Amino acid sequence: MPVGVVIVAGGRGTRLGAGVPKQLLDLGGRSLLRWSVEAFDAHAQVDEIVVVLPEDFVARGASLVGPARRPLAFVAGGARRQDSVRLGVSALSAAADIVLVHDAARPFVDAATIDRVIAAAREASAAVPAVPASDTVKLAADGQPRVARTIPRGDVWLAQTPQGFRRDVLDEAIAGGHGAGEATDEAMLVEQAGRPVRIVRGDPRNRKITTMDDLEAARRMTSSLPRAGTGYDLHRLVPGRTLVLAGVVLSTEIGPASHSDGDVVCHALVDAILGAAGAGDIGHHFPNTDPRWKDAAGLDLLARAISVVRARGLAVVNADVTVVLERPKLAPHVDAIREALAPVLGVAPDRVSVKGKTNEGVDAVGRGEAIASHAVAMLAAEGGA
Ligand code: MG
Repeated sequence: MPVGVVIVAGGRGTRLGAGVPKQLLDLGGRSLLRWSVEAFDAHAQVDEIVVVLPEDFVARGASLVGPARRPLAFVAGGARRQDSVRLGVSALSAAADIVLVHDAARPFVDAATIDRVIAAAREASAAVPAVPASDTVKLAADGQPRVARTIPRGDVWLAQTPQGFRRDVLDEAIAGGHGAGEATDEAMLVEQAGRPVRIVRGDPRNRKITTMDDLEAARRMTSSLPRAGTGYDLHRLVPGRTLVLAGVVLSTEIGPASHSDGDVVCHALVDAILGAAGAGDIGHHFPNTDPRWKDAAGLDLLARAISVVRARGLAVVNADVTVVLERPKLAPHVDAIREALAPVLGVAPDRVSVKGKTNEGVDAVGRGEAIASHAVAMLAAEGGA
């Protein structure tokens, strides 16, 4: 049973203002619509996607949404939601006999919810994901601000999308609702056609973006997603210099031939941290042509890199460093290096990993002529880590 998805993005969304339809507003560098398209495009059980847009946006659909791996088509919406859905369904290939209908205003739909909806639609012909109500629900009297009665909360489910249907069941329900008023979801039309609709577990994060407050909350949520960066550094080793990593002395007989302290651990970490923030690299922030940085200690540069990313609201979640060194042995110094890095990175020592490797005698590092280091750092919004 091939699965077709109809993403409803036909609304004008004037409530959010800005003259741009809500579904095309930016959320973390992508439109709301793009988030939904990506979620379904990445799902293994989805075979094709149709996006229903306002008529004047259809021609620009592909450029607004960007590339997809699955077949992706754009059609113009109708007057009411059910008209838009009907036009979307009719643009699916004849093979699609399970249809999911999704609101573009729900960018955070997850794969597990999609799984549950597809499975239930196959089994029960119609399925809606929903979350239990956590507030007590009052029914008002005749549209007046007066409580008629309290609805038992255990019976109340808040419906989400995607809603899933056997295609013939959805077609029949939409045709049955032809003369009716606007349906706010497709399950409602199926209910009105007298057919059962199964409830499956939704996801509280799969919420609908309706107001500017919703959008701001969603933007805060996406900016708190973790960001990874990588760094690499290498210095030549020569006799008669001191080898210092994160302030820890490893040797006074052999060390980096460098104007700076040649601390490959700190330098690789600086690049990883700046990289995760999209904030350039060590050479950009601390050029060695600038006398201020020429002899700067690695830990000082690291502290400055931290203040660069902190100014962008980011903090380190964890960091992992591999040092490639033939001699002296790194192992006896690993704990001291972690203890030295942790307070500068602003994390507990168990969030800093330092590992040693040799290069098996291969190349300059393997011959002991150089020391190299690789680092990965994870950042997240400060307070969210
Ligand atoms: Mg360096």
